[in-house]
Parts: sequence; structure tokens; C-alpha cells
Amino acid sequence: MDCIRIRNLEIFGHHGVYSEEKRLGQKFVVCADLYLDIRPSGLSDDLKLSVNYGDVCKFMDSFMRGNTYYLIEAVAEKMAKALLVEFENVSSIRLEIKKPWAPIGLPLEEVSVVIERGWHDAYIGLGSNMGDKKDIINEALSRMEGDDDIKVLERSSLIDTKPYGKTDQPDFLNGAVHIKTMYTPLELLKCLNEIELLSGRVREEHWGPRTLDLDILLYDDIIMDTPDLTIPHYDMKNRDFVLKPLCEIASWLRHPVEGKTIREMLSSLEMKDGPASS
Ligand code: ATP
Ligand code: CA
Ligand code: CA
Repeated sequence: MDCIRIRNLEIFGHHGVYSEEKRLGQKFVVCADLYLDIRPSGLSDDLKLSVNYGDVCKFMDSFMRGNTYYLIEAVAEKMAKALLVEFENVSSIRLEIKKPWAPIGLPLEEVSVVIERGWHDAYIGLGSNMGDKKDIINEALSRMEGDDDIKVLERSSLIDTKPYGKTDQPDFLNGAVHIKTMYTPLELLKCLNEIELLSGRVREEHWGPRTLDLDILLYDDIIMDTPDLTIPHYDMKNRDFVLKPLCEIASWLRHPVEGKTIREMLSSLEMKDGPASS
């Protein structure tokens, strides 16, 4: 991907494990590769479509002067996140924090930490069949929007559906949402579980009634199968209440295991089951 490269920006900061590092401070050197699509600004000659590297340097300078951490790992992690939140045209960043005068008592030229962080695309399935379902789902979306690590890009409409699996329970309201997130898949699951708990969800029986269910349907093109998390969601191809809302916002998206688009998956399911009633 296209990139704007900032090399060896010198910043005086107070980060370190030793108390004198915090007290006296020292010079750090920062390199940043900002990944973004440069073609729109390249063709139009319009800075708004790119990122102002002067502003990025000022931002990194004040961030490193204004905060104090023990570890350059923490400097890199927090600063990468702050940059990705602040400069919205940047989709990912490679950040190197060098510490040329690390006080280790040996003739070391420099030590540095290098990380790559960025926004990932994820699709979340939303469901509720207890209480004020619409309010509960909207509140969950507001909570996602209020999280710095999540941007809600597009929501489907909410549809009424019949319960799946365990049928003797109230109808559901279902939807899907496209987000960008800095969370890893497991961090995202933890965040969604917390939002479910805040809605008052109690896990009593599997597939039983719930105030809120938030499932990770897709996360980039990741395929993973661990005891806690399976991505893509293991059963989405059999669920019209998942595929219908998802098709509204991402019909063209290709499922990395099935090899079919969401629209094709929905058509296959409808051919098998007959068109859904809702
Ligand atoms: P289903 O997963 O069949 O839709 P459910 O949503 O009712 O059923 P839950 O009780 O909400 O199931 O979740 C059970 C566990 O599923 C969670 O604790 C989580 O660890 C795990 N899980 C695995 N993959 C996913 C995923 N993609 N999204 C959300 N949870 C997942
Ligand atoms: Ca579910
Ligand atoms: Ca779930």
C-alpha cells in the first residue's frame, strides 16, 4: 500500500524504567510509515485527501513530551493508537521508537521497538429477543461508537425473525453492522461480551432468550478456530437472520471459507429452505 514515511524525528521525552530516565529525560528518535491511499490526493493535489506530515510530527512530539511510560513498547502502542484515531485517512501505521542512549552500561548503538497497527474490517451480527429489543441494540451500537478502538461504518436495518434452534421463545430482532476496529479478534470478542453484559445479558441456556447477542461474523479475511473463537462465525451459512442483514451492507463480500459472496450464500440458503418469511 502507498505510504508516507517519516524518518528519524528527534523528540526529548521522559520514558524509562530507571527513575533518572524519568527525571532527567533523554532523546528518542521516531520513524513512522503511514499507510494510506495516496492516489486521491495525488490526482487532485488536495491535502485534505492525504495526511499532513507536519501535523503528524507535531502530534508525535507533543504525545511523547506529554506522557511518561516505563517502556518504549508502551510509547509505541499508545502512540500508534492515538495517531490512528487522530488521522482518519491513515489505515495502518508502522512505528519505530529508538532509544539511542539506553542506559545499559555497554556500548550499544541504539535499541528500538517496531510495531505495526491498523484498522481492521469486521462484521458483527446483532440479535435481541428480550425487553425493548430495538433500544437494546441501538444502545449497544452507541457503546461501540463510544469506544476509541471501534468505528461503526454501516448498519443494516433491523428485521423481525423467528427463533432459531430453540423455537419456544419470543421472536428476535436481528441486524448486522460493519465496523473498523483496532482490536485483535479476541480483544473484540471480549469487548462485545462486555457490551452484552451491560445490556443485562445472563448466559443461562445455549440458544435461549437473551437481551443481546453480538457475534463476530467476519474479521478481515481471517480464518481461525480456537476454543473461544471461531471466525468466520461457524453457522452463518445456515442462518437467514444473519445473511439477510449482512447482504444489505456487504452483498459483494466473499466468505473466506465458503468461497461465495454473501449474496450467493443467501441465495443458496433460500433455494434450500425456501424464501424466509420476514
Ligand atoms: P451461536 O454461537 O450458535 O450463535 P450463541 O451466540 O447463543 O450461539 P453464546 O452463548 O453467545 O452463543 O456464545 C458462546 C461462546 O461462543 C462465546 O462465549 C464465545 O467464546 C464463542 N464464540 C466462538 N466464536 C464466536 C464468534 N465468532 N462470535 C462470538 N462468539 C463466539
Ligand atoms: Ca449467536
Ligand atoms: Ca453469541
